[in-house]
Amino acid sequence: MRIFNTGYSTDFDGPGTRLIYYLKGCNFRCDWCGAPESISPETQILRYPDRTAIAGSNITPEEILEKVLAARDFISGVTFGGGEPTLQYRELAATLELLRKNNIHTAMESNASTPGFLELAVMVDWLFSDLKTLDKNKFCKRVNPDVEYVEIVRANLCFAAEHQSNLVIRIPVIAGLNDEDGAQNQLLDFCRELSALRRNGVLHVQLLRQHHLGNVKYQALGLQCRCENTEPPPRENLERFAEKLNANGIKVSLFG
Ligand code: SF4
Repeated sequence: MRIFNTGYSTDFDGPGTRLIYYLKGCNFRCDWCGAPESISPETQILRYPDRTAIAGSNITPEEILEKVLAARDFISGVTFGGGEPTLQYRELAATLELLRKNNIHTAMESNASTPGFLELAVMVDWLFSDLKTLDKNKFCKRVNPDVEYVEIVRANLCFAAEHQSNLVIRIPVIAGLNDEDGAQNQLLDFCRELSALRRNGVLHVQLLRQHHLGNVKYQALGLQCRCENTEPPPRENLERFAEKLNANGIKVSLFG
């Protein structure tokens, strides 16, 4: 499996403290992406003013299991993020199988756009699925020029809502993409559809406010973030969106 980083988080990327593997390569090109080194599947060098860092290394399922077992006393499970982890479908499926045999709790964050998503979405114990926009013009301009992805993501999220009992929909709230009432109402309507597909009728949504923490990485890669100078939506915008979702029975958490 090809990764670009590892890390830890608590009660954000799954229940409890998680060991996280960030898989390299993504089929989207979100112009606000906070991890530009995640997008290319190739190894890249980040040149910071005071140091260099390499993004890209290989790790086997057995090596992951060994690290997880060594950390077992202080982690609750493992989360796979990216990049887009489902692009490495075979390697990830083999890793999840091995972890499951060893009773390790697993989670994944995916952009829900690939053929591998359907199978992996029900292999993990916990799933985070991104929902960016349902506006086809904005999607083509800011995420991926292939408009078909909008319907693929929609269908895959419906599948996940029906078949994965631990599902969290992550909506990055981005200036000019989904911070207007019209765009948010469109997302709200779709979240209501997803709620109706849940066996317990409950949908969890996380609203993640746009940030510029990745700008330094763009510079280190010799790239320019296309939203470098865009002000993130004010927090009140997310609060209003959260109120609307809550009023429709959707459980919401705000970040940022
Ligand atoms: S899907 Fe995620 S990793 Fe891929 S480009 Fe968009 S924000 Fe970055």
